[in-house]
Amino acid sequence: KVITRFAPSPTGYLHVGGARTALFSYLYARHHGGQFELRIEDTDTERSTQESVNAIFEGMDWLGLEHDSAVKYQSQNLARYHEKIDQLLNNGQAYYCNCSKERLDEVREEQMKSGKKPRYDGKCRDLSLGKAEDTIIRFKTPKTGEVRFDDHVRGPITVANDELDDLVIARADGMPTYNFSVVVDDADMGITHVIRGDDHINNTPRQINIYQALGVQVPEFAHVPMILGDDGARLSKRHGAVSVMQYAEDGYLPEAVLNYLVRLGWSHGDQELFTKQQMIELFELSGVNKAPSAFNTTKLNWINQQYLQQADNDRLAHLLQTRLNVLGVEVPDAVDLGAVAEMFKDRAQTINELAEMGLFLMQPLTGYDEKAEAKAFKESAIGALQAVIEKCQAIDDWAGADLHQLIANVVSELEVGFGKVGMPVRLALSGQAQGPANDVIMQVLGQTETVNRLQNALD
Ligand code: GLU
Repeated sequence: KVITRFAPSPTGYLHVGGARTALFSYLYARHHGGQFELRIEDTDTERSTQESVNAIFEGMDWLGLEHDSAVKYQSQNLARYHEKIDQLLNNGQAYYCNCSKERLDEVREEQMKSGKKPRYDGKCRDLSLGKAEDTIIRFKTPKTGEVRFDDHVRGPITVANDELDDLVIARADGMPTYNFSVVVDDADMGITHVIRGDDHINNTPRQINIYQALGVQVPEFAHVPMILGDDGARLSKRHGAVSVMQYAEDGYLPEAVLNYLVRLGWSHGDQELFTKQQMIELFELSGVNKAPSAFNTTKLNWINQQYLQQADNDRLAHLLQTRLNVLGVEVPDAVDLGAVAEMFKDRAQTINELAEMGLFLMQPLTGYDEKAEAKAFKESAIGALQAVIEKCQAIDDWAGADLHQLIANVVSELEVGFGKVGMPVRLALSGQAQGPANDVIMQVLGQTETVNRLQNALD
């Protein structure tokens, strides 16, 4: 049975790279009918925060990446790590080391001078030192032989053991290090496939040695390439939003972000749009690219637009309301946000854009587009606006009225071109020269506000 996990360190928000790793792990597990687990790697007590743990939960929740068992916290598992460290110490597979920082610096300097790769020289390896105040614990990496693994993305990888040094598995304060605790947990949780960022690929041979020393099953590995910004550098804050929840705030739909993320480094033919169910059906590690992928906001926007167009108006109305609350905009009673969504969802790329486009329906106009005003508000407009106002006031059932016909009637009664009526009406209602059809705007504004705006234009 396949068991995967996402193992973030809670030192910030859930970023795009982490979310994509989580998604791949999630999809792999679901595809194989397995389990997906979440583990919080919070042994770095100085950098880990509860706020960040919450941000990770929030992001996972928003994207719908549900995990199967209770969340595991490394900070609550210290006794277990010590048990396993003791096992290695007792078996002579780990040792105390009391080398000072100064000595380690000197050794490193010497090695660099003579052109060698800097690494611990093993001074304490066979001294059988006991625990003392300043001692750390190192893993006894085998001196000979090699580590081999067949990475599901990168292919076969072989590293000679003499390339690896005796890595620290516990610090002076007793805290286990990442490379050690990750192995104990992955083994205890029965993780079969470790899917993670390729920034960890150099750790994998070291971790495999620890699995073997502990006498536990080594999992499969898949290291996914990093995500680049549009300038080819590793994606970071300076490329804009990298936090998943920032996309929520910016008005993206979670299924669109999920769809964008899955395509960031994974492909299935040239299909672009995938429901979550399709992702689960089609995801395979063999479809993950070896090369890094570049984040492309234009494409994200396009995908978001596809989902906006398909989205249910009630749902959009709700999201729109949330956005308008953030903007501090009060929605007039007459305005139906579902109708506003319908009006703009083919044009807007995000909810925020949609809200922006619809603002004129909810707030009094601040003025008219100047160029359009010069063209549309001429003498001839007065009669047209007056005629429209009169017809509007005469309506009993606004919701059931054919407002398109109303304008058409004015046009034929005045015997003018459609624009002679349409343009001034549009400008009076929206302040803009372009936009949705007048009758659609009038329907959303309601009778009172429509008449008010037409009258304001005459004053
Ligand atoms: N806590 C590590 C990280 O966030 C996890 C790496 C792993 O998946 O093994 O980079």
